[in-house]
Amino acid sequence: MKNNTKILLSSPHMGGGEKKYINDAFDTNWVVPMGPNIDGFEDDLEKYIKNDKKIICTSSGTAAIHLALILAGVKLYDEVICQSMTFSASANPIIYLGAKPIFIDSEEDTWNMCPVALEEAIVDRINKGFKPKAIIVVHLYGMPAKIETIVSIAKKYEITLIEDSAESLGSSFKGKKCGSFGDYGILSFNGNKIITTSGGGALICNTTEQKNKAVFFATQAKDDAVHYQHSEIGYNYRMSNVLAGIGRGQMEVLDQHIALRRENNKFYQNLFENIKGVKVFKEFSPDHFSNFWLTCIIIDNKKSNFDNEELRIALKGENIESRPLWKPLHLQPVFNTFEFYGSEICENLFKNGLCLPSGSNLSKEDKVRISNIIKSI
Ligand SMILES: *Cc1c(COP(=O)(O)O)cnc(C)c1O
Repeated sequence: MKNNTKILLSSPHMGGGEKKYINDAFDTNWVVPMGPNIDGFEDDLEKYIKNDKKIICTSSGTAAIHLALILAGVKLYDEVICQSMTFSASANPIIYLGAKPIFIDSEEDTWNMCPVALEEAIVDRINKGFKPKAIIVVHLYGMPAKIETIVSIAKKYEITLIEDSAESLGSSFKGKKCGSFGDYGILSFNGNKIITTSGGGALICNTTEQKNKAVFFATQAKDDAVHYQHSEIGYNYRMSNVLAGIGRGQMEVLDQHIALRRENNKFYQNLFENIKGVKVFKEFSPDHFSNFWLTCIIIDNKKSNFDNEELRIALKGENIESRPLWKPLHLQPVFNTFEFYGSEICENLFKNGLCLPSGSNLSKEDKVRISNIIKSI
């Protein structure tokens, strides 16, 4: 019988060690949003990200972005610069704070924030009397942005830099891990990410003082008093100690899973090598090391005999999931009234791109099914 089970874009892939840590949480009754698994997971992440970073686990990546913006001092009516080509969660917390996103186009090499458009935007906003409070740069699909240039622009204008590394745990630029370049970084452990705690995230900061402040806001902003005393508005954003146990187990297989995702990228590069008009997205320079969370392609339908939508539907017919690239936020109904700087680079990526199944648990058999359809189209 033909195997027709659904092949997903990216699904959870347990390593086996997770249950031990979950059982520990039950055995010791640490079924609360604090405890040894959280401490252990934060420790593992700090050792992995290096550069003496301090990390706090949160209930989601979105919560971590919200906390980063609060620590950056973003307030009502402030402006925050954000990469346009990304998931809406990168920008939603700007709105939570009553601040205003300013969107920036991508560049062709990494599909991430264009440094030229970024500087143009900063200069223009300053000239108009609104100096941006923060910059949110994203390493999309695991591909490191042109982060060195972006760091130097942020420094030049003294603007806080937040790295959205939700998709890029394990990616690096010149050997330095994504998430460790900015004033703050964030990670996500949602179900579809490179490692998962079913849902969760982390905030990466530079100092213990920042970490303590983040924990304060993430645990309802309780003042130092015997009774419940509050001088600021807090949030309930801490990770569960049970879920942190999954994270500890996942850390044991992270690098192995990155190697598998990178093999998927090679598989697609070989597959599309002789197919006209299709480019598989890859690292444009050896400085950029991608975890290839997802492998994506760009189709030039003047040269190929199919477009991204035709390929998506053909794959769907065989129960294989694929998806268009992130729709740029400046084109989203909920954000299209905000300023945008750049041209049509991210818009064209969205029009012509497709994300392909990229899980670290993609089997040989799955790859045969994918190959057969692509060859037939
Ligand atoms: C997944 C994701 C987020 C949000 O993370 P959650 O843990 O789902 O809240 C933010 N930014 C990007 C780019 C993402 O892919």
